Amino acid sequence: MTLKLTNSVRGAVACALLFAAGCASNHPPPNPTPTAATTGNGDVIPRIIEQISEVNLRLNLFFIAKDPLPFRKANYTLPGHKRSTLEETDAWITKRLRGCGYTVTDDVCEVQAYACDLTKPRHHTYAKPAHDAPFYTVRNLYAKKTGRRLPREIILLVAHKDSQSWIDSPGAYDNGVGTAALVEMARVLARYESHRSIWFLWCNEEHKPWTSVIAANNCRQRGDNLIAIFNTDSLGGKSDADIAAGRKTNVTLYTAPEGKRLADLMAEVNDAYKIGLVQSSHLRPRPGDDDGSFVKAGYPCAVANLGSYPYVDSAYHEAEDTPERVDFVNVRMSTQATLAAVLRLDRAP
Ligand SMILES: [Zn+2]
Repeated sequence: MTLKLTNSVRGAVACALLFAAGCASNHPPPNPTPTAATTGNGDVIPRIIEQISEVNLRLNLFFIAKDPLPFRKANYTLPGHKRSTLEETDAWITKRLRGCGYTVTDDVCEVQAYACDLTKPRHHTYAKPAHDAPFYTVRNLYAKKTGRRLPREIILLVAHKDSQSWIDSPGAYDNGVGTAALVEMARVLARYESHRSIWFLWCNEEHKPWTSVIAANNCRQRGDNLIAIFNTDSLGGKSDADIAAGRKTNVTLYTAPEGKRLADLMAEVNDAYKIGLVQSSHLRPRPGDDDGSFVKAGYPCAVANLGSYPYVDSAYHEAEDTPERVDFVNVRMSTQATLAAVLRLDRAP
């Protein structure tokens, strides 16, 4: 995640209206109002989301943010290894997905590492790459489920899998947790027969340019009908005070009215399935992060789930963003809420 902090609320509202007006031709998301199929004893969603495993989330995260992979950088290769830690991360994700029966596809992209400017404020020391900085070939990875009933309607889950290219940080919250959450959701949904298509995308956002831009533009060029986009970035990352108080937080950021419907859905499923998050939502002042790449490409039904906003993790973009600090109960709850929202949309009439 790369947060650029804010202008006025007035600007934010104007921006949201502009995007709403500019995207009026887009399909609205289906109405996820509870029906007989999604409430009471016939509701399959509780049984699916309870399969999200805290143990798996922990194992996944420690693998990609500690041992054997300390980072996920195109510009860092472990001594004696042939591939960068980011390529090794891709290989690990691909192996996990294939093990669940998915076919993995990719976009090939060229990126540079950010430069590091230590005169800039703490947490924000990334800087424009030098003009002669080397390019690296990196990939967006996809696993796709095709819907049985409405295959052309696509629900997209996104997480950036890379860690910070300008420093050596494990990037546990940013965004090892989102990467691990998507791998776990893909595992849980492997044998689920979806009504709509559900796509998983692992992209790169800590190198330049962000590869979610390429993913979003490819979707736009093909005319993919993305009806909802959930970016999971820094799930459960929150203030030291919230950690001390044991609060389990989730904030859903939206940019346009279509996104607000998804934010409202996050609150609804948190209540309906008694997930127990302190759930809130927030209007972004402008499109941001990987969901913003899709908003800019003409898909306003995009939100980000994260632990706090403004993002107040004390180790944000620092070497101290380690997996030992991660609140896995919170990550599990946020993953369950995200999955519940996806399933509500999938099963809507
Ligand atoms: Zn970041």
